[in-house]
Amino acid sequence: DPRIHGIKTKIRVVPNFPKPGIMFQDITTLLLDPKAFKDTIDLFVERYKGKNISVVAGIEARGFIFGPPIALAIGAKFVPLRKPKKLPGDVIFEEYTLEYGRDCLEMHVGAVQLGERALVVDDLIATGGTLCAAMNLLERVGAEVVECACLIELPDLQGRERLNGKPLYVLVEYQ
Ligand code: 5GP
Repeated sequence: DPRIHGIKTKIRVVPNFPKPGIMFQDITTLLLDPKAFKDTIDLFVERYKGKNISVVAGIEARGFIFGPPIALAIGAKFVPLRKPKKLPGDVIFEEYTLEYGRDCLEMHVGAVQLGERALVVDDLIATGGTLCAAMNLLERVGAEVVECACLIELPDLQGRERLNGKPLYVLVEYQ
């Protein structure tokens, strides 16, 4: 799709952020370009419209940028999966390992019902730990994760292998 190239050119790569040796993929530059931002949302909407997805689950923080416009366009609800101690109601949580240390995602109890069809949205998959935790939260309440969707994949980190065979759709790969 010719739109993909335009999207790729708008993602800025920032060396040594947030730590030495990390090549950070910065999507804020994509958001500054209304055409590239719209093309990004449109590509996801074209893929997921008519697939009976009832819930889009977005991962804090950048999944909150891309998830809601996709949810509105496909007629699904939006559920935020948040870092600890942000959600005011009762939550279930999943801990996961990072390169150094651990992190955690929380979801409100009652936000997603048994049998719902879910799409998980984030900006980027690296090791896959974050998406894996998100899928576990949804599956624990009896939802079916239809697919995970990200703008960017870092294929060298083999995050896909951590998704237990769940389909992953990405727009751009960064080597
Ligand atoms: P993983 O759990 O797959 O190792 O890491 C993915 C998570 O880290 C995502 O929530 C993503 O937003 C964040 N992340 C890791 N590296 C980058 C990066 O280079 N750019 C951006 N935008 N997010 C990153």
